[in-house]
Amino acid sequence: MILQRAGGRCKPVGRFLWITHPGVAVLIRGRRLAPLWAVALLEAVEGCVRKHQLNKGWYREPVDSPRKDCICRLSGVFVLAGNPAGWSLLCKMPTKFYFILGDGFMYQGCKKYIPFQPVQLKDRQWPDKVITKAPIWCSVDLRDGNQALVTPMNLEEKLLFFKTLVDIGFKEIEVGFPSASETEYEILRTLIERNLIPDDVTIQVLVQARPHLIQKTFEAIRGAKSVIVHFYNSTSTLQRKVVFHTDMQGVIDIAVEGARLIRKLTEEEVARSGINIRYEYSPESFSGTEMDNAVEICDRVLEELGATPDNKVIINLPNTVEGSTPNCHADQIEYFCRHLKGRDSAIISLHAHNDRGCGVAATELGLMAGADRVEGTLFGNGERTGNADIMVIAMNMYSQGVDPELDFSNINHIKDVYESCTKMKVHERHPYAGELVFTAFSGSHQDAINKGVEYMAKSGTQYWEVPYLPIDPADVGRQYEPIIRINSQSGKGGAAFIMAQSFGYHLPKAMHPEFGAIVKAACDAEGRELQPQEIFDLFHKEYFEIKYPYHLKRYKLYEEHEGQDGETQVHFEGVLRFQNVDHEISGTGNGPIDAFFGALRSVGINEYKFVSYSEHAVSSGADSKALSYIQIRTPENKMVFGVGLDGNISLASIKGIICAINRACRT
Ligand SMILES: [Zn+2]
Repeated sequence: MILQRAGGRCKPVGRFLWITHPGVAVLIRGRRLAPLWAVALLEAVEGCVRKHQLNKGWYREPVDSPRKDCICRLSGVFVLAGNPAGWSLLCKMPTKFYFILGDGFMYQGCKKYIPFQPVQLKDRQWPDKVITKAPIWCSVDLRDGNQALVTPMNLEEKLLFFKTLVDIGFKEIEVGFPSASETEYEILRTLIERNLIPDDVTIQVLVQARPHLIQKTFEAIRGAKSVIVHFYNSTSTLQRKVVFHTDMQGVIDIAVEGARLIRKLTEEEVARSGINIRYEYSPESFSGTEMDNAVEICDRVLEELGATPDNKVIINLPNTVEGSTPNCHADQIEYFCRHLKGRDSAIISLHAHNDRGCGVAATELGLMAGADRVEGTLFGNGERTGNADIMVIAMNMYSQGVDPELDFSNINHIKDVYESCTKMKVHERHPYAGELVFTAFSGSHQDAINKGVEYMAKSGTQYWEVPYLPIDPADVGRQYEPIIRINSQSGKGGAAFIMAQSFGYHLPKAMHPEFGAIVKAACDAEGRELQPQEIFDLFHKEYFEIKYPYHLKRYKLYEEHEGQDGETQVHFEGVLRFQNVDHEISGTGNGPIDAFFGALRSVGINEYKFVSYSEHAVSSGADSKALSYIQIRTPENKMVFGVGLDGNISLASIKGIICAINRACRT
């Protein structure tokens, strides 16, 4: 047994196996092994393996030996899980094994990938460009999106999805691949025959550049008013080599012959029915094609289709498998646009997939690089990691002051339709649409949002100027209420924000820390976040349900005026119960608060000092009540708040004072 450490921190497990930590890879290099041990090893490894089959995985391979059938060679990479069950067997393995441990195996694996070769474009212009207008949008949800679903949409779901796309404002919608699939043929015929396609919407149908499929596609579109016939063939270096076994000329011939047939059938169909047909050509896997080849094939197609500046052809440039950083994609698009002879006769379209998670970024940079049109899907559904997410691209424009010409003002409804039709889930943190994207958990974020909302109300600014919220949630039909959720991480401003936003209680600023601490303690005790109603209940319990030790049983308040312009004196008389005895109290002052403090002094309650007072009206149903916030200073120099709610504004203040004193006595 030979042990080799290949980086990482290793720790011995048993005699022969070392392991760094659960989840780490162990590379077992091939050595001869008797089958008994081989089987035992495999079982042992499987017992504690979470995922194997990295690279080629493990395999057994007979090797030359006098006892061929009894000897196996094991080789592979294993990732060990946390449970060491089975390791004891591994540790009993006979010698002549390499266990190369640690994190090093990935460094070997990556060597088999060929790095992306960027196009040479020294004087690129796109980095200085800014997106200032919406592109032509084309939804490919019903084709690219649908073909990637575990359960493809049924007819009804497709019709609902189509209607939703129309409502959002898509004017070009790819509805399927009618020559290749019976159900896609059916949806197309239903849309046409039930007259479900608005006059300003063009449907798009996809077809490979193969004669019999093109023929069938033209049969499928009969009766439609306006159609984009989208044909493609694969042009990439890799596909030419491993799939089609053809050279570039062969690929060009396929495209040109397809174009010729499509033009002929179009002319016949136009003469017959007056249908409006436009063309779209995709050199599929464009981003994996040598740029000069891509330019050449597209120029040949434009020529064959008779494209002119008045009769443009859509040239769609798919980033079929995203294999580079988005800037390289933008370089390709700019290079292509500059070199295409028929640029004036072409609408350049992007179709980015999301393998590296940059489908949106690649599309945005592609627009800066000169593209006119974007194909994509809602929420980025599509093959593998999906297509570029059109909603995000559109909303990104919107957030920069650019009208995207698509309407996502009811994003929850769109999300509901999407989820019910596709059976896919929109992630909680999905930009603009996720459940949590307008929620702030952190206290400092909440505080800043609070201030931003206040600033906007006060300043009357015409711009959205709220920190931490890139857009106004209301613009996509989301609510303000759930923006701030109160958990133990929330700061003092969060609870006050909820009280103001949800219940119209505007707590004075000095009171925020006091109530914030009460809410935080409740969150800690519950071990979860609190809902707005729970925060309100907490407020109620803390400030309105405290009746001891002081309780006002009766009172009379009246004013006395000295002459016409003289001073007003307020008199307070009442019965205050404390220490199980009713006490008659009375006092005089220049206002009700002053008079009541005077009355308290009359029975020796003189240690609490009045600090501040604020009040506002709250309406509960038909009637409006006064809500007073009273701040007092205790003999221990502590600030305590009390709250009073009453139909009578004077009594609201007096209740607030008693509440503050009762709370001060309690602490
Ligand atoms: Zn695609």
